[in-house]
Amino acid sequence: MNKGNKLYEGKAKIIYETNDKNLVIQHFKDDATAFNNLKKAKVEGKGVLNNRISEFILTNLSQSGIKTHFIKRLNMREQLIKKAEIFPIEFIVRNISTGSLTKRLGIPEGTVLETPLLEYCYKKDELNDPLISREHIYSFGWATENEIKTIDIMTLRINDILTGMFRAVGIKLVDFKIEYGKTWNKDREKNEIVLADEISPDTCRLWDAKTEKKLDKDRFRKDLGNIIQAYQEVARRLGIMPEETNISEVNFGKTIPIKFKKK
Ligand code: UDP
Repeated sequence: MNKGNKLYEGKAKIIYETNDKNLVIQHFKDDATAFNNLKKAKVEGKGVLNNRISEFILTNLSQSGIKTHFIKRLNMREQLIKKAEIFPIEFIVRNISTGSLTKRLGIPEGTVLETPLLEYCYKKDELNDPLISREHIYSFGWATENEIKTIDIMTLRINDILTGMFRAVGIKLVDFKIEYGKTWNKDREKNEIVLADEISPDTCRLWDAKTEKKLDKDRFRKDLGNIIQAYQEVARRLGIMPEETNISEVNFGKTIPIKFKKK
């Protein structure tokens, strides 16, 4: 598979074209951003860990029948994925209240929700990814009712599978964000809805089941330190990284601030 031109560069990933028009290469960077890019840093080793963790999770999901864009990991930082037309929507699932939910509605931090809560946000950095309703999605033609029905079912199934996967290794899945896209078939028709996103400690909130220690990007957002060690801990518990490996010991866990402006 030949790596071609850069198609798109986002906050944490770069997409390159390949010699197959239906496939692209996804490169995981070490850049960490929060608060819509106001806080930025390089966290050495993060891209490598997210590549591995996301590979593990998407492979498991696809073994459970969830269609995803993932094809295979190519190297430490890259994976081959199906090219997809991404819906301009972030799908957020919450099991425990924290983050913007506690701020917006005053639900106390740590409240276990009666049922998983599904939220939709419009993917638009300039507007801070605002919360939207299903009706906005239909009125603006961002997805059809049938597509959202399919996606909602997939999202709740993914939540069930991930909740079980993390619970088995002593981690609570508090909330997460995923995105979906449509892929093309050989007649160049857009036909299949696939999960088209990474799933990693950058996009999930993961708390240690006993101590509630944060093992995710909140360590960066809230300046809690030991970011890479927390991501490594997730990888170790999932059995991806051998017990004896410690990325920080090989000088691979430094956080280098780039810019920090208070909102
Ligand atoms: N999330 C994400 N990308 C975003 C916004 C949210 O991956 O652009 C994830 C976030 O890591 C958390 C969940 O979605 O696991 C819910 O985030 P929340 O709305 O509470 O975000 P906050 O505003 O607190 O960062």
